[in-house]
Amino acid sequence: MLCSPGIGHLVPALLFGRRLVTHHNLQVTILAVTTTTTPTAQSQLLTPFTADIHLPVIQIPAADISSVVSPDAKVVTKICTMMRETIPTIRTTISSMDPRPDVFVADIFSTESWVIAEEFGMPKYVFNTGNAWFTGLFTYSPVLDKKVVGQYVDQTELFEIPGCKPVRPEEVVDPMLNRDDEDYRVYLNQAIGVTLADGMLINTWENLEPQSLQALRNNKILRSIPVYTVGPIAKKYEPVGLKTEVIEWLDKQPERSVIYVSFGSGGTLSAEQITELAWGLELSQQRFVWVVRPPAGYDKEVSFFKSGHSGEPNSEPEYLPEGYLTRSKKMGFVVRSWAPQVEILSHTSVGGFLTHCGWNSTLESISSGVAMIAWALYAEQRMNATMLTEELKVAVRPEVLPTKKVVGREEVEKMVRCLIDGEEGKAMTEKVKRLKEGAEEALSVNGSSYISTCKFVDDCWSRIQQSI
Ligand code: UDP
Repeated sequence: MLCSPGIGHLVPALLFGRRLVTHHNLQVTILAVTTTTTPTAQSQLLTPFTADIHLPVIQIPAADISSVVSPDAKVVTKICTMMRETIPTIRTTISSMDPRPDVFVADIFSTESWVIAEEFGMPKYVFNTGNAWFTGLFTYSPVLDKKVVGQYVDQTELFEIPGCKPVRPEEVVDPMLNRDDEDYRVYLNQAIGVTLADGMLINTWENLEPQSLQALRNNKILRSIPVYTVGPIAKKYEPVGLKTEVIEWLDKQPERSVIYVSFGSGGTLSAEQITELAWGLELSQQRFVWVVRPPAGYDKEVSFFKSGHSGEPNSEPEYLPEGYLTRSKKMGFVVRSWAPQVEILSHTSVGGFLTHCGWNSTLESISSGVAMIAWALYAEQRMNATMLTEELKVAVRPEVLPTKKVVGREEVEKMVRCLIDGEEGKAMTEKVKRLKEGAEEALSVNGSSYISTCKFVDDCWSRIQQSI
């Protein structure tokens, strides 16, 4: 399984790899392409996934792309270029493996590596860590590209994706926000690459997205390739080792009383937005755990010299309102940079999740039966937020102040109260618990995702046999 840089890509690959090893008796090797900013985090991350089973992870340093793309290039361009430029190392790594793999699985940013699968005669499958609705838009984008004139965001009509729910112009994925940007071309290229796979694995399940899945299978969007639903691929909490401070704090709080606030592995807010969020949490008078990161564009070095010790966990970060940590000590727990998310979400004291709607975070919240505040930031998260609020009705969505482009403190206060303290929050929690049960059913023996994974494994075997 080839995995592009990013924790949001690596975690589901590790989890799915584990499942193939433990439940389906396959040998799996993960090729994780890493960048200079991620290797340490990734090494620590790997242990819980690989310590007790044979799941080799080969970390491949990403090729240097500084002479190929501009430093201002957007994220999809950077990731896909890295994956393309790393192809020679990936090829060498695979050719030195003994035994050589029989099947090649790559994520949606890695489809240029199909050439390697073809060279080695391996069937090639795409591992899509997003959901089916996003996949509909993604794979239909080359058609929209021909149909739509002008910028997508300037259109007044919804985008019809055959068989799927339509997509609002302002909710298209990030690379579609500006058609003149190189990122859009790279994105379209990947969308075409995905359709060249022998099959597609999607991190969703039949009962969650029946409409979009049917649309993907009826040949109107995708050319006819098998679609396997293997989700939810979401980490489960298993107690290991000592409790962290945040869990000890949660142990002391009443049941369903805490809102957990986190924006994924890399989401950042503006300085103004951090201030509004901080005040909103305080005004709500509800308990919270907040994974705080410096605002976008924040110069860590400057702040280090200014405060002398801003890297220490108990120091007051200057991007929070003055005295905030001290004031909110009773009601809140601020975690700097990284928290044990799955453990937090599984804690009985947690009653809501203010999330950036990354698909992994979303699935972890559903799998823990926790209702959400859908605060989308980037990528396909606006679509995820719409699905969670309008279709599944397990989240509330903040209104953004049109003049300031931030979510104001009153709005934060209102949403947090609604989720933790209100009737609407209770109703959403009941709904999300039903989704959790549906997810567990899908994964159980003879459940839809279990059967679909077995089908994927069987299809791999028949393709391998055909090629012998
Ligand atoms: N995560 C975590 N602790 C943090 C922030 C994130 O464990 O403080 C994990 C989270 O549980 C999830 C992943 O990082 O598995 C983030 O993936 P997601 O798709 O939600 O968002 P992305 O980071 O890709 O935007």
